[in-house]
Amino acid sequence: MARLVLKFGGTSVADIARIRNVARHVKREVDAGHDVAVVVSAMAGKTNELVEWCREAAMAHDAREYDAVVASGEIVTAGLLAIVLQDEGVQARSWQGWQVPILCDNAHGAARIQAIDAEEIVRRFKERKEVAVITGFQGIHRETGRITTLGRGGSDTSAVAVAAALKADRCDIYTDVDGVYTTDPRVVPRARRLDRVAFEEMLEMASLGAKVLQVRSVELAMLHKVKTFVRSSFENPADPSPGTLICDEEDILEKQVVTGIAFSTDEAQLTLRRVADKPGVAAAIFVPLAEANINVDMIIQVVSDDTTTTDITFTVPTGDFDRAKGILEKARGAIGYASLTGATDVVKISAIGVGMRSHAGVAARAFKALAQKGINIRAITTSEIKFSVLIDAAYTELAVRTLHSLYGLDRA
Ligand code: ASP
Ligand code: MG
Repeated sequence: MARLVLKFGGTSVADIARIRNVARHVKREVDAGHDVAVVVSAMAGKTNELVEWCREAAMAHDAREYDAVVASGEIVTAGLLAIVLQDEGVQARSWQGWQVPILCDNAHGAARIQAIDAEEIVRRFKERKEVAVITGFQGIHRETGRITTLGRGGSDTSAVAVAAALKADRCDIYTDVDGVYTTDPRVVPRARRLDRVAFEEMLEMASLGAKVLQVRSVELAMLHKVKTFVRSSFENPADPSPGTLICDEEDILEKQVVTGIAFSTDEAQLTLRRVADKPGVAAAIFVPLAEANINVDMIIQVVSDDTTTTDITFTVPTGDFDRAKGILEKARGAIGYASLTGATDVVKISAIGVGMRSHAGVAARAFKALAQKGINIRAITTSEIKFSVLIDAAYTELAVRTLHSLYGLDRA
């Protein structure tokens, strides 16, 4: 007998028929003798609708009331799943975040879970084999007694946090894909499903826009060593496949040098030309951006020929491009530069793999392969288990396919 947390995303609970299908997955585990806690998202599209309603009601609205509204989506699915489970003869009870309680801080709309008191749920496992159906995405701020939500995609994080609190043997994240792939199968049809991915690799993939899991859920799983599977709810509940296990690097026997290729179009490039090459200039550029909460990602600085000035190129999220440009234009006097240019039609392509730690020249091979295809690289960054190149968006597919083949990731 094991203790399991099963999480079902919005598409898995999109209507009553799908909720009934979810109940079959749950029942399978219960029938196998396991203790089960389920964490649910709102029905597909529901949260978007609720967010939209808040905006319609008032563009600038009270963050506490926003949370009161958007938390309702999960409340509905938790209740519905409990009803369907009962109908299938499974003992079940729904739990809203505050009832568990899942204690959060009061950063409304972006709250962090601080503690979960799972005592009552465990007691009911023991006494009545009762399935707990818990609302994802939300908790309560104890001091104010208000509902707080975790930010979009937050029910993944709820699930992993519940799994950690319950000391669960496994956390299964059910979604509409059957696992984590070497890259987006829509771009590379020969992408392969991975059996295992290391926490750190998954963290990179998630933050690079592979949207299977919320980044914070992966951080949490890594911290608490929660064995997490990504698997599909759309398969036959009687004959499920295991999906992809996200686990410790040590639990992966056959390490590839590169595990996956991710790409993100959420990058925009800014270049400052002929900036004075002297101490304090980088600070003059990046401090105001940081103060405006703009995340700078890739940075390259070139020493110009005359060595008194330099060019600096960096990237920011596309959504912050105009704001960043405005800030730099305003700070032109303080920074001192000849020109400011930018591009939003760029894409960041990244190769990720813990195997890079022990292999030299991994990125160099990519640069060569991209050059052979005539793809110009605008910027490069590397870290221990990843390297990224910034290129023209028009070459996205070609570049992703090239790297996918280069590192032997294509399905036979
Ligand atoms: N329903 C919430 C959202 O759409 C939370 C989640 O699904 O993870 O962001
Ligand atoms: Mg999600």
